[in-house]
Amino acid sequence: MTPSKGLVLVVEDERHIADLQRLYLAREGFGVHTESDGAAGLEAARRLRPVAVVLDIGLPGLDGTEFCRRLRAADDWTPVILVTARDEEADRILGLELGADDYVTKPFSPRELVARVKAVLRRTARPQADGVHTVGRLRLDPLRRTLHRDGEPVELTTTEFNLLAHLLARPGQVFGREQLLSQVWGYADYRDSRVVDVYVSQLRAKLGDASPIRTVRGVGYSAQESGR
Ligand code: CA
Repeated sequence: MTPSKGLVLVVEDERHIADLQRLYLAREGFGVHTESDGAAGLEAARRLRPVAVVLDIGLPGLDGTEFCRRLRAADDWTPVILVTARDEEADRILGLELGADDYVTKPFSPRELVARVKAVLRRTARPQADGVHTVGRLRLDPLRRTLHRDGEPVELTTTEFNLLAHLLARPGQVFGREQLLSQVWGYADYRDSRVVDVYVSQLRAKLGDASPIRTVRGVGYSAQESGR
């Protein structure tokens, strides 16, 4: 029996939760591999190349935030969905800033988790072959470095363009300010992460009500998804 939707790695130390996740994911046609500690999970991520990782934050040994940090540091961008307890909000935000893609809070419904996994896979799917991003009234062409609103060209600075292109390439994904600084600006120093807010304001001023950029309170920014 070959799973048609690919392998999901579940890293969860509570056996009954892992079993429930496995059951619901398998029912949706995913293959499922489970690990009960962070270090083994990270090793499995490297070895098995799953399509997504469902990651508990509170894990023995290597916790979920450190898992994310190491995964992304190894340039592995496999989608990660965090599973967090209510009292782990700070860790959850840190996890998102370190490159996790989404989260669910315990207690969660297994259906909700499966829906999140499917959503994250939809939005991290490879961009169209021509690489052109269309969202609402905007059309951005990364190769030609052009942006059109309602068919009319919009002039952007290099940084404005890079920031918008980065967000539009991963619609729905939430980026922390530090993440955007390192990925768009190439900074390693996060003391002035408010610079991101300045550029977002500039983009919004230029794009007006066609702006696809959404503020995610307490975390950062994302571009709205088109055609959903
Ligand atoms: Ca746990």
